[in-house]
Amino acid sequence: MFSNYKIAVLPGDGIGPEVMKQVYKIIYLINKIFKLNIITKEYKIGGIAIDDINIPLPLNTLLGCLKSNAILLGSVGGNRWDNLPSKKKPEIGSLLFLRKYFKLFNNLRPSKLYLGLEYLCPLKKEIYNKGLDILCVRELISGIYFGKPKGYNGYNKLKYAFDTEIYYKFEIEKIAHVAFKKALERKLKVTSVDKSNVLQSSILWRKTVCNISKLYPKVELNHMYIDNITMQLIKNPSQFDVILCSNLFGDIISDECAMISGSIGMLPSASLNENKFGIYEPAGGSAPDISGKNIANPIAQILSFSMLLKYSFNLVKESDIIDNSINKVLKYGYKTKDLTLNSKDFISTSEIGSLISCFIIKENNINEQNTIRKNI
Ligand code: NAD
Repeated sequence: MFSNYKIAVLPGDGIGPEVMKQVYKIIYLINKIFKLNIITKEYKIGGIAIDDINIPLPLNTLLGCLKSNAILLGSVGGNRWDNLPSKKKPEIGSLLFLRKYFKLFNNLRPSKLYLGLEYLCPLKKEIYNKGLDILCVRELISGIYFGKPKGYNGYNKLKYAFDTEIYYKFEIEKIAHVAFKKALERKLKVTSVDKSNVLQSSILWRKTVCNISKLYPKVELNHMYIDNITMQLIKNPSQFDVILCSNLFGDIISDECAMISGSIGMLPSASLNENKFGIYEPAGGSAPDISGKNIANPIAQILSFSMLLKYSFNLVKESDIIDNSINKVLKYGYKTKDLTLNSKDFISTSEIGSLISCFIIKENNINEQNTIRKNI
């Protein structure tokens, strides 16, 4: 697809830089094993960029992203920058801007229960034993987060605030196609989320999704109200395959999926546009409470890189090798702190990164093992 694969790496704030370091180990190996030329260049974003030049998204960073084939992001934000005006805040001024700028309408968040980590699921054993493997497909650049008008007005007791939930038919069609195509690669089921008993925008959402479903006769479609699906996810998550959501409902549902699958440190995400250009990042934030302690879980960041290989570079085999190595490390019982229940028996961020790398080396039976090990 590309002769060189260029990635703009934006480690950002908090645990971002320390988990990103583990991805570099994997990139080194993937280049070596598959004789690829994945090139990375780092740029500043978020709080660290504010500290540096007083803006969360420097021009140099935006230009670097424009010159790249994909963006790998850590996380942005932290207490230090919480009280800045809205447009200067790390998340609004950098992340939301980038999503809109690159028209990343399609947000994919897989969540599953990993073998060996079932005990992290807060649900009853008889529920999680049936399995949990869900892909949340969320519309990312429209709906109530961006709809106009929004604002506030009035005085004293008559002061009021308002937002607008607005969806064009073409926007619903685009994200619905993504969900049905993903279902074709999975278990052939789409559950579309709305509130069509109350909201006009949801009535259009449901009608449009029904129409698009006719183009995918192999995929079963059902609809659920947002209030019902929040209950169903707890009662019987194994009934779901692909969940299709608007921006607001997807924000809620994807976090619920994160919770029932164990740790936020395990969950990657991809935000893509029509040309398969995307930002890949962990579902969690900058975790200031654990930053700098070498205890953060880097797996969400590594899985985000794996999604990047698969979705933006079409390097499926390479991505599968990374996923399999992570599965093995977990199956053998190696865990970071967030994956243990009050146990002192855990390994560090850098140790688990190196272990995943070792499993990649082992599985691929490659020469020069000692030289490579020294580099990870
Ligand atoms: P958070 O996701 O950073 O942390 C919530 C909890 O999860 C914390 O206890 C944290 O230690 C834990 N956690 C998160 N990632 C982890 C990992 N990889 N390994 C182990 N534990 C992990 O959410 P928060 O505390 O609400 O937000 C902190 C900052 O991050 C805020 O400034 C917020 O605005 C920002 N944020 C950024 C993004 C992003 O960059 N996409 C997303 C969410 C929040």
